[in-house]
Amino acid sequence: MSDDVMSCEVLIVGGGPAGTTAAALLASRGRQVVLMEKAHHPRFHIGESLLPLNLPLFDQLGVREEIEAVGMLKYGVEFNSPTHDAPVTLDFSEAWDKSFPYAYQVRRSEFDHILFRNAARRGAEVHEGTRVTRVDFEAEGRGALVTARTDTDGARQWRARFVLDASGRDTLLASQLGLKQKNRRHNSAAVYGHFTGAERLPGRAEGNISIFWFDHGWCWFIPLADGTTSVGAVCWPYYLQSRKTDVTSFFHATIALCPALARRLGNAKLVEPATATGNYSYAAQRTSGHNYLMLGDAFAFIDPVFSSGVFLAMNSAFVGADTVETCLDHPLQAPAALRRFDTVTRRGPEQFSWFIYRVTNPRMRELFMDPRNTLRVKEALLAVLAGDIFRGTPFGGRLFLFKLIYLLGCALAPKRSFMAWQRRRQIVRDTFHESAAH
Ligand SMILES: Cc1cc2nc3c(=O)[nH]c(=O)nc-3n(C[C@H](O)[C@H](O)[C@H](O)COP(=O)(O)OP(=O)(O)OC[C@H]3O[C@@H](n4cnc5c(N)ncnc54)[C@H](O)[C@@H]3O)c2cc1C
Repeated sequence: MSDDVMSCEVLIVGGGPAGTTAAALLASRGRQVVLMEKAHHPRFHIGESLLPLNLPLFDQLGVREEIEAVGMLKYGVEFNSPTHDAPVTLDFSEAWDKSFPYAYQVRRSEFDHILFRNAARRGAEVHEGTRVTRVDFEAEGRGALVTARTDTDGARQWRARFVLDASGRDTLLASQLGLKQKNRRHNSAAVYGHFTGAERLPGRAEGNISIFWFDHGWCWFIPLADGTTSVGAVCWPYYLQSRKTDVTSFFHATIALCPALARRLGNAKLVEPATATGNYSYAAQRTSGHNYLMLGDAFAFIDPVFSSGVFLAMNSAFVGADTVETCLDHPLQAPAALRRFDTVTRRGPEQFSWFIYRVTNPRMRELFMDPRNTLRVKEALLAVLAGDIFRGTPFGGRLFLFKLIYLLGCALAPKRSFMAWQRRRQIVRDTFHESAAH
């Protein structure tokens, strides 16, 4: 271990969307920021479909043009259900606020690299190949001693006034402090790969994400700008645990269980072996503590069916940057700032989870597959799917109405709803007990 303990104002763990966003914002406001990333950019990451409300965040970071140059335009979401004859497309131009009609699909290696370079350009001191191994907090909130291991020099230490944990699903602080809790209401795992030669939707819809529900979960089809298509299946853990073959064969067998997707991949070729990942949903018990905040996936992970992860991570970094500044400069206002950070950070996962928990219900499927705009409820649904959940856009009453319509539909078909609820509950409970036993 080196004798030299270096110091900084804010030390950020993780150079993904959350960490790089916070680093760029704080450094451009004159803060002394150190950003540590265990990998080297450009590095692979899954999570390629963005939301329209990402775009104003890109503008504020000054990276919109760079992302536009590598992104594929995504105007909407196509849903395919095995119990409905035809797919349906929800177009962002029909959302409550019409000023955010599209988003992008991106290769995360390129996207995260752009954000990382931007943080460095704005003055953050960036370290790649540097894995933070431990954070020891000083008494009475006086900061933290951060230990990291670099690829080249071994262990190094930094003293920081404030630590932002943006370590993603590694959940550095939540794991170290014993704060991580598996979500008892939802769990899933994924298998995925990239194809060439996949059949895309025609015209303007070419870049849309397609979601295919099937018996064991759902699949994604995300067209990327270079002609490759990202395909993945997010399944109940019991299904992935049934795997007897190698991951790639299992992936092909899974796609075959979803005929509408298999047709789109009829002439396509998998370009590298498939990857499997456990992505059990979780949240930390709290979002902050003395001298630290948890951003993005370092705080919570939810099922990616609505492509919300990158947006929520970046949004938590925006609120987190303001919160850090208040804590450092106006300690008396820190409790109120931390409460606000907590409320905002939890709101995103909660909003999307309401739909995630119910999307296996036949009534919810019907509302997605035959969306009516009675009293503008479809516009309210699309506002959520676009990520318009933090600006106070006044669709709350219509969203409530959408939820009432759903509940009424369930009440009118109680047997069907009960059976769907019971099956889902059983799967989640079995998985939870099984993983607890392990
Ligand atoms: C199967 C799957 C599909 C998904 N699809 C989508 C999608 O289509 N759209 C979407 O928006 N989201 C999607 N997501 C979610 C999305 O990937 C994440 O929500 C998003 O990347 C979170 O950003 P983050 O910055 O919080 O974490 P990350 O992007 O994971 O970044 C964390 C960074 O921290 C680094 N790190 C970790 N530990 C340490 C350490 N100890 N020291 C130093 N560095 C460290 C990591 O190397 C990484 O670069 C998907 C997720 C999964 C699992």
